[in-house]
Amino acid sequence: MIFERMEHEDYEQLVFCHDKTSGLKAIIAIHDTTLGPALGGCRMWDYASEEEAIDDVLRLAKGMTYKNAAAGLNLGGGKTVIIGKPDQKSEFMFRALGRYVNSLNGRYITAEDVNTTVQDMDYIYEETPYVTGISESYGSSGNPSPKTAYGVYISMKRTAKEAFGDDSLKGKKIAVQGVGNVAYTMCEYIHDEGAELIVTDINEDSVQRAVDNFGAQAVGIDEIYSVDADIFAPCALGGILNDETIPQLKVKAVCGSSNNQLKEIAKHSKMLQDHGIVYAPDFVVNAGGVINVADELQGYNEERATKKIEEMYDQIGKIFDIAKRENITTAEAADRLAEERIEGYKNVSSTFSLHNKSLIETRKNK
Ligand code: NAD
Repeated sequence: MIFERMEHEDYEQLVFCHDKTSGLKAIIAIHDTTLGPALGGCRMWDYASEEEAIDDVLRLAKGMTYKNAAAGLNLGGGKTVIIGKPDQKSEFMFRALGRYVNSLNGRYITAEDVNTTVQDMDYIYEETPYVTGISESYGSSGNPSPKTAYGVYISMKRTAKEAFGDDSLKGKKIAVQGVGNVAYTMCEYIHDEGAELIVTDINEDSVQRAVDNFGAQAVGIDEIYSVDADIFAPCALGGILNDETIPQLKVKAVCGSSNNQLKEIAKHSKMLQDHGIVYAPDFVVNAGGVINVADELQGYNEERATKKIEEMYDQIGKIFDIAKRENITTAEAADRLAEERIEGYKNVSSTFSLHNKSLIETRKNK
């Protein structure tokens, strides 16, 4: 059954990692390394069954292939899941995992994810260089949220251009769902450009902070969908673009940081399109953090990482162009962009063999 699934969705490798002493039970999935090493985080979760863990790691690894490719990174897609409750963690569990990651010799690079921390990545770093999101003192890029926020802002400008013919956010009304880590910084950029903010959050302090600092208008949790605004920025939860909410939207565009915004990808991206709403695909919009962390692999340089995040403007533009060219939704177009990049690179890599690749890499990093 597993090979059938791997063949059907073209997975490269699935690695089961066990360490009796620390209790480590982990699965590493590598979906595709055409563009480069597979980069994707390490999640710890108390899965109800091994099947559920396998399912999750395969789904997440494939998602990373598409995210990294659509973001224009030279990285493939992979992921790790550790089966267990976060309170079962230990230094030796992560060091044991680090050894397994190291055994893949750079085919897979790990990072933080749900229920794993910078400290956990530091333990992995004791055993392997193939880890990002480590402590800043080791040369890490630090908290990814501000960079994710900057990427959402850049994406929003390109989305505004698509929806309104002009990328300026000045005078635009932006409805923000959830003003947490990412959205607060995003609101700062939007506010500085002269947009009006309408915000909601289940946390009253977060709302108050946006009201005090950006003059935002606060609305109730369920009101955010139907407010009179130009752009809706979902920055809290998944599944919030659905049969109930889409008909309420008065905006002309959706662009926000949260993952899996569409309850059903095909159905609800089409529904948005039919309502004349430009949808900027979430996994591309929120790629600023992964673009930033990927720069660590070359020795972190903030200026270079920021420039790469600014290139998201063109990546989002390409998605809108593909959608129009192929007469498909922007969600489908984002997948198409990723697939075209992977296919395109297959041709390049077949042109000739790079015997001096290590020399080229060394020079590029200077
Ligand atoms: P966060 O927890 O700091 O912020 C989320 C905010 O949403 C919180 O303030 C929370 O109170 C609020 N919220 C929760 N339920 C809500 C509801 N029903 N209605 C309104 N507000 C609600 O998280 P974050 O790091 O800012 O991430 C926001 C989203 O972006 C998440 O979906 C996350 O997966 C995604 N994302 C984040 C990053 C990153 O770098 N942090 C990268 C990629 C994607």
